[in-house]
Amino acid sequence: MTVSDDAAARRAFVLGNFVQACCWHVERAPSPGETVEAQRFQIEPGGKGLNVAVGLHRLGARVHTLIGCGQDQAGDALLALLATEGLTTDHVHRLPGSSGWGSGLIGADGNNSIAVYLGANRLLTASHAEQARPRIEAAHLVYGQFETALPAVETAFDIAHARGVTTVLNPSPWQTPSRALATTTHTLIVNALEAAALWGLADDFASSVEVATSRMASRLPALGSSWPALRRLVVTLGPWGALGTERSDHEGRWSAWHAAAPTIKAVDTVGAGDAFASGYCTAVLTGRPLPEALAWGNLCGAHVAAHHGVLAALPDAAWLHEASADARIIAPSILF
Ligand code: ADP
Repeated sequence: MTVSDDAAARRAFVLGNFVQACCWHVERAPSPGETVEAQRFQIEPGGKGLNVAVGLHRLGARVHTLIGCGQDQAGDALLALLATEGLTTDHVHRLPGSSGWGSGLIGADGNNSIAVYLGANRLLTASHAEQARPRIEAAHLVYGQFETALPAVETAFDIAHARGVTTVLNPSPWQTPSRALATTTHTLIVNALEAAALWGLADDFASSVEVATSRMASRLPALGSSWPALRRLVVTLGPWGALGTERSDHEGRWSAWHAAAPTIKAVDTVGAGDAFASGYCTAVLTGRPLPEALAWGNLCGAHVAAHHGVLAALPDAAWLHEASADARIIAPSILF
C-alpha cells in the first residue's frame, strides 16, 4: 500500500488563500529613497493555504479548498493552476476587487522583505464557509490559517468540530486566536516565533531543542485549560525538525516527541512550514501516529527548503513513499 493509495480514501478541506507573489532578487535591499536594479524577477502563485491544498493533493488526499480571488488576471491564473493540478474549484469564489498580491525583495544573502495585500482573501465570509458545509462535514481533516478572513475560518472550524472532524490550525501570520477558535481547534502547528507569541515570550522560543522542550513542558498545562479542544501542539524548529505533543483523553497528560529534520543544504526556506503541514496532515489522514506524522512533515519541509520556489518544490506521493520507507526517519524520543 503506497502513501497515495492510503491517502486517496481520505478527504481534506483546506481554508485556502491565494496571493500572486512578485519577487525581485536584488544584491541588497534599497535604502529609503534609493532605487536598485533587480537581477531576477519572477511571478508565482502562492499563499499559505493554497500551498497546503496543493501539497496535500500531490500527496494523494482528496482535497476541497475555499478560496477568494478577484475577477482579474491573477484570479484567472489561480483557476488555471488549480485545473492543471487537478483540484476542484467548487468553492473558489471570484469576488469584487483585486486578488491577493505579494511583493518580495530577496537579497543575495537570502534575507527577504515582503508586503502582502490580501485583497479577495479578506472578503470571504462565514456564509462562504457555510456553503461548503457538506464538504466540511464529509472531510476527515480541516486545515486553516490566518490569511483567510477570520469569520470563514471560525465557521469552518465550528462545523468541523461539531462533527468530530480533526481541525488543524496554523495561526500565521500571527494574531492571537479568538476564543471561538480556541474551543474548536484540535491541533495547532506553530513555528518557533509563533510559539513565542502564543506564550507571550519576548525572546526566541527555541535557542535549542532542549530549551524549547522545557519551555513547552512548563507551559502546556495552562494552554490546555484555555484551549479545551486542543489535543496536539506541534512546534516546527527549522533545521532542528519538530516537537510534537499530544494530550491523552483519559488523564489529560501531555506526551512529547522530538523528530529531527533530514540534513540538507537549505537554498530557500520560504514555504517549508506549509510543506511540513502537508506531510504532517497526510500522515494524520492515513492514520499514522504523531511521531510518524512529525517525520513525514520534516521530510516534506526539508525537501522544499532544499529547492527554489514553493509550488514547484512540493513533493508528490511517490517521493514521500520512497523517502518515508527509511525507518531511520522515525527516531523520536519521548521527552516528558
Ligand atoms: P516556517 O517555514 O513556518 O517558519 P520552520 O522554519 O520551522 O517553519 O520550517 C518548517 C519545517 O521545514 C521544519 O520543521 C523542518 O522540517 C523543515 N526545515 C526548514 N528549514 C530546514 C533546514 N534548514 N533543514 C532541514 N529542514 C528544514
